[in-house]
Amino acid sequence: MTSPYFADEALFSAAVVTLYLCFPLTYLSLILTPAPYGKHSRSGWGPSIQPPVAWFLMESPTLWLSLLLFPAGRHRSSPIALFILSLFFLHYINRTLIYPLRLRRLHISTGGGGGVPFSVLAMGFFFNLLNAYIQIRSATHYTDYDSHPWIFGISMASRVTIGLGIFFWGMSVNIRSDMALVRLKAQGGGGYKIPRGGWFEQVSCPNYMGEIAEWLGWAVITWSPVAFGFVMFTAANLVPRARSHHSWYLEKFGEDYPRSRKAVVPYIL
Ligand code: NDP
Repeated sequence: MTSPYFADEALFSAAVVTLYLCFPLTYLSLILTPAPYGKHSRSGWGPSIQPPVAWFLMESPTLWLSLLLFPAGRHRSSPIALFILSLFFLHYINRTLIYPLRLRRLHISTGGGGGVPFSVLAMGFFFNLLNAYIQIRSATHYTDYDSHPWIFGISMASRVTIGLGIFFWGMSVNIRSDMALVRLKAQGGGGYKIPRGGWFEQVSCPNYMGEIAEWLGWAVITWSPVAFGFVMFTAANLVPRARSHHSWYLEKFGEDYPRSRKAVVPYIL
């Protein structure tokens, strides 16, 4: 009979392979068809649900599954695993609880608007289920924290410090840009305007730039293949969407839209 340990190892390996398959497929499909919510909402994607509820449901596995899996890990008492887990939670408490509450206030003040199709919600939910399982099992069970204390001549302490700097810089850009956009939408009575100020002067989507930086910082801190898989997936998801947003802004606002702005990486992309 297969022991539960080997069954979990096989499941973990299959999940990691799925994550690595997901990012090229996601990139290619989003280059061809922007995800149909927000600026790119269109008919033909079936019934939809209000964004605050959609975000809450879609992102929720990152909290409840993580809490369920954490006590089963062999590193459950390790301060390093707890520290890594707390960064993951910090991001997802904002995304699952605080961000939907902001959207709910926006929808009350503007009288609602377009919804998120169930199909998009379902894809987001299953990705978060997969990714939370992989990231949490890796951090709390499979990672060997005693190996590789030095990488490319950089000590673990320096690497964690650099990673933390990138992570918190990304988080602050992501949250501040999301808040600025939600405020802008409330001021416009639910319509779209040209965002101005801060990182918006450099790129059309600083919220996506911040999110990619956050998970890059997390990957530098954890130095695990699964965390690098996650940052690659995040870029594969958000770079095509940022380019679609950028083209949408140029088309909608024409000459009024600042020409020097890039989509998501200042001066480059
Ligand atoms: P968007 O930038 O498309 O929208 C954010 C909010 O701002 C929405 O309420 C949107 O309204 C509103 N908004 C956007 N642009 C304008 C504007 N010019 N004028 C007025 N209001 C505007 O972000 P997403 O909804 O795609 O993503 C939200 C967050 O989730 C981001 O922080 C992103 O990084 C994160 N995310 C992470 C992913 C990952 O793979 N890790 C995947 C997807 C998102 P409306 O919705 O009506 O357009």
